[in-house]
Amino acid sequence: MRIDILSAVPDLMESAFSHSILKRAIKNGLVEVNLINLRDYSTHKQKQIDDYAFGGGAGMVLMIEPIAACMADLKAKTVYDEVIYMSPDGELLNQGICNQLSLKKNLMILCGHYKGVDERIREHLITREISIGDFVLSGGELPAAVLSDAVIRLIPGVLNDETSALSDSFQDNLLAPPVYTRPADYQGWKVPDILLSGHSANIDKWRHEQSVERTKKRRPDMLK
Ligand code: SAH
Repeated sequence: MRIDILSAVPDLMESAFSHSILKRAIKNGLVEVNLINLRDYSTHKQKQIDDYAFGGGAGMVLMIEPIAACMADLKAKTVYDEVIYMSPDGELLNQGICNQLSLKKNLMILCGHYKGVDERIREHLITREISIGDFVLSGGELPAAVLSDAVIRLIPGVLNDETSALSDSFQDNLLAPPVYTRPADYQGWKVPDILLSGHSANIDKWRHEQSVERTKKRRPDMLK
């Protein structure tokens, strides 16, 4: 898979892709992530990529030219399955969307900044708009990193244990069961006996029951 992320401040995302699971996925060639600076496509002397909103009001708007030029340049070399704009008014991100996107080959993600991007970009150049929640962040960079992380960990081979993503919350419409590690007894706080029994069928059964219990209690809406 290839993910190209267009941003006014690409450095903001560097760290998200330089550690742990995502770093290894990139190193092993399971995904290629390109952080692209929109300023490289500005024709202004000062590398300007934003301007005042028509009609007045507070806040700058990302201009259409550098974004369109950047997209055209990328599209000349790659065919994209989706051109995604991160936006608080987009469809709310969930595991189903992540599963769907993890099967794609090439994704382009546009990060807005300030007041957002010129609406004509959304009308003509974007195929999908995704929100990470009903709150507003300063830019699309953290949302793009969130989306990329959630998608990349679903690519086969990215997680060490191939089945690991399948036992996470929201797969099968259930929350994950509780997990424990050593020590088995921390100052009297004990790990459930069943997990130390070595009986894998019973452990699987217990975990499933815990998942159902937890989902009933915390997210009954998921069981409908
Ligand atoms: N004026 C816009 C918010 C702009 S915030 C509005 O009220 O809808 C600046 C940028 O941050 C947005 O263009 C978007 O790319 C990103 N952003 C902010 N909150 C987000 C969220 N919840 N999900 C996805 N992207 C978000």
